[in-house]
Amino acid sequence: MTSDGLVDITILGAGPVGLSAAYYAGHRDAPVRIVESLEQLGGQVAATYPEKHVYDVAGHPKILGQKLVDLCAEQGLQYGAEVVLGEEAKTLERVGQNGEEVFALTTENGGPYLSRAMIITAGHGAFEPRKLGVEGVEEWEGKGLHYFVRQKDVFRDKACVIVGGGDSALDWTLGLQDTARTPIALVHRRDNFRALESSVNEARELESEGLVKIMTPCEVREIHGDGSIAGISVENTNTGEVERVDCEALITLLGFHSHLGAIADWGIELEGKRQLKVNPMTMETNLPRIFAAGDVAGYPGKITLITIGMGEAAIAANNAIAQIRGEKVQPKYSTD
Ligand SMILES: Cc1cc2nc3c(=O)[nH]c(=O)nc-3n(C[C@H](O)[C@H](O)[C@H](O)COP(=O)(O)OP(=O)(O)OC[C@H]3O[C@@H](n4cnc5c(N)ncnc54)[C@H](O)[C@@H]3O)c2cc1C
Repeated sequence: MTSDGLVDITILGAGPVGLSAAYYAGHRDAPVRIVESLEQLGGQVAATYPEKHVYDVAGHPKILGQKLVDLCAEQGLQYGAEVVLGEEAKTLERVGQNGEEVFALTTENGGPYLSRAMIITAGHGAFEPRKLGVEGVEEWEGKGLHYFVRQKDVFRDKACVIVGGGDSALDWTLGLQDTARTPIALVHRRDNFRALESSVNEARELESEGLVKIMTPCEVREIHGDGSIAGISVENTNTGEVERVDCEALITLLGFHSHLGAIADWGIELEGKRQLKVNPMTMETNLPRIFAAGDVAGYPGKITLITIGMGEAAIAANNAIAQIRGEKVQPKYSTD
C-alpha cells in the first residue's frame, strides 16, 4: 500500500469468494483491501449456517461452515490484506491520483479507499440482521441488545433472553450455559423450532433441570430499562398473557436479510435484478477494471456455489492484475 492508502485491488465483501480473491491477488503480490459490511468474515456461510456441514467444496469431504470460512480467511489473509469490517460500501468514483486514474470507494462511515481495480464479491448484497418488530428497538443497540454472540464473555453472569427459533438461537441457548446466568430464556413465536432436533431436545432437557426457560408461542412486545436493558415484556400469542422477564442482555437471532443497495447505482449493468453482469471469460463488468465474482456475478448458466465462486475469484484476480500491470493473463502455480 502507498502512503495515500492506494492498493491494487479493493475486494468488496468478505465471504468465501472475497477471501479467495484476496488469496489469488496476494499470491501475485498485489496489495489488497477487503471491505465488509458485517463485523465478521465469512459471508453467508458464517452468518447463516456456521454450524451446518458442507460436503461439496473440493478437498473437504465434510466440513462445518464456520471451519470452512476460517480456513478461507487463513488462506486469503496470509499475504497481509487490509481488512475493514463493519462498513457498507456507498459510493464509487474514479478520481485522479498522482496522474493515475483510480477508484475511490466510500462507506457509510469510512473512506475514501483508493484502488486501481475493484473485485465485487458482495453475494446477495450487504447483510443486516433481522430486527425485532418492537417500536424503537434500535435505541437499545449497544445498551444490552445484541444481534450476534461474538465473545461469550460479554454475557458472563448476565441474565439473558435469546429470541429466535433457528440453529443460532438454539446453539447459543446451549452454548452460553457455562457463561450466562441460568436459566436462559428462549423466546420463539412458534411452538415448533426450525433448529436441529438434537439441539431442541437438549434445550428441553435443560428446561427440565431449570437451566433454560422456553417461552412459546411468544413475542417480545416491549423492552424496559433506564439507559440499559433491564427486562422485556413477552406476550403468549395463544393466551394473550403478558409476562415480564428481567434480563440484562437481549440476544435476537432472527437471521439476516440482504440488499444490493448502493452497488446497484454505480452504473454496472445488471443480470436480472440481483446480479452484476460479467463476461465469464474475465469476470469483468461493463465498467473497466470493475470485476465481480461469486453469487453477485451473473452470466447465462451461472451456478451459485462456493466452488464456482472460488474459480471466478481466481479469474477475476488474475485479470485485474494483468490489466493493472499491462501483462498477458497467465496463471502462476502456487507450489514452492
Ligand atoms: C442455508 C444455505 C446453505 C448453503 N449450502 C451450500 C453448500 O452446501 N455448498 C455451496 O457451494 N454453497 C452453499 N450455499 C451457497 C453459498 O453460501 C454461497 O454461494 C456463497 O456464500 C457465496 O459466497 P460469496 O462470497 O459470493 O457471497 P457471500 O457469502 O454472500 O458474502 C458476501 C459478503 O459481502 C458483504 N457485502 C455485500 N454488500 C456489501 C456492501 N455494499 N458493502 C460491504 N460489504 C458488503 C456481505 O455482508 C457478505 O458478507 C448455501 C447457502 C445457504 C443460504
